[in-house]
Amino acid sequence: MNIILLGAPGSGKGTLSEFLCDKNNFTQLSTGDLFRENISSKTDLGLEAQKYMNEGKLVPDSVTNSMVEKYLESKNTNLIFDGFPRTDEQALALDQMLKNLNNQIDKVFYLEIDESVLLGRLTGRMICKICKRSYHKVNRKPLKEGICDFDNGELIVRPDDQEDKIKTRLEAYNTQTAPLIEFYKNKLIKIDADNCSPSELYDRVVSFIGV
Ligand code: AMP
Repeated sequence: MNIILLGAPGSGKGTLSEFLCDKNNFTQLSTGDLFRENISSKTDLGLEAQKYMNEGKLVPDSVTNSMVEKYLESKNTNLIFDGFPRTDEQALALDQMLKNLNNQIDKVFYLEIDESVLLGRLTGRMICKICKRSYHKVNRKPLKEGICDFDNGELIVRPDDQEDKIKTRLEAYNTQTAPLIEFYKNKLIKIDADNCSPSELYDRVVSFIGV
């Protein structure tokens, strides 16, 4: 089964993916993480993507799609698509890529959340440098300050989790990604992600997966 998580930055896609991978044997395909890995290892792709990410803008479809196409050559089942697709063009490309591999998207979960909650979540967010797990300075504190509970990795604040960048990212979401709710209407399951802890969100989603 392949699943897409659709929702604004900060709606809980990353943490939900983490739970689904740990408990239900899914693999997360996060285009944001793939770009960040490429930036850390200073590849050409990373240098290209960094120009856009630093400003909170979307990386061009052609660059993003070819990175995903390459990934799918090695794995294309039991995937959680987190942060991809983000535009109509990416969604059409993904359909075609999976069709070519005799595969498909089975369910799309739309994490619906009030925009006023997002800013607070993103400004307090920290991620582990190693495993990318996400924490929050108020709502999801690590046991030891600045250190990941899972692998003792250093917790860092993402450069695009600053207020001006967050505004641009939310704008990109509203104009370019939100239209995918209509695109996927036949596979879409709407989940109320307001006022809900990570494990409550997981319970809501997993009841639709049947695993
Ligand atoms: P994320 O980790 O999903 O919040 O993504 C961080 C940043 O990576 C985004 O703000 C974009 O600049 C870039 N990015 C991630 N996924 C995509 C995508 N599917 N299309 C274009 N840009 C992306």
